[in-house]
Amino acid sequence: MSKRPDEDTAPADYTDWCLSVNEPWVLKAGEMLREEILRRGYKTAKIRPMPCQVEFNDSYVVNYDGGIYKCPALVGRKGFEIGNLRDGVNDRRDAYRVGLWKNDECLDCAYLPLCFGGCRYMAFVRDGRVDKADCKRPHFDATLETFIRQDIKYRKTEAR
Ligand code: SF4
Repeated sequence: MSKRPDEDTAPADYTDWCLSVNEPWVLKAGEMLREEILRRGYKTAKIRPMPCQVEFNDSYVVNYDGGIYKCPALVGRKGFEIGNLRDGVNDRRDAYRVGLWKNDECLDCAYLPLCFGGCRYMAFVRDGRVDKADCKRPHFDATLETFIRQDIKYRKTEAR
């Protein structure tokens, strides 16, 4: 059940069943679609470290009104503007919980380089807050081996 604030709107109408990459049908669909994409010779994202944009010091999004944000999906949302073009950028760490992956569970997790605490937007849509990790462990447990096998099978000649 989504706990997104009532006044918030999202581009997609997320409901109870599409709030996480850990959903069983999303796991199966992801594996199947990736297999078909690679089998037909198209390119798709490689498995690589993917820290969230909020973790980078030099990455920002500017809204139409000059407001500055850290995440394209959270542009225009109350509490996530961290400055504007006229006055500059304020401290962004609190609004986006930068570094929330620096906890014992994440630091001990083999998936940390692929996850870094997950997606703030998904956490916000699902929980109405971004101060808890959007943990992807079930997703990686279920799919990572398959994804690696797909890359070995279909990307033999492609520069890695
Ligand atoms: S998978 Fe979960 S425990 Fe592992 S780094 Fe991501 S949020 Fe932390």
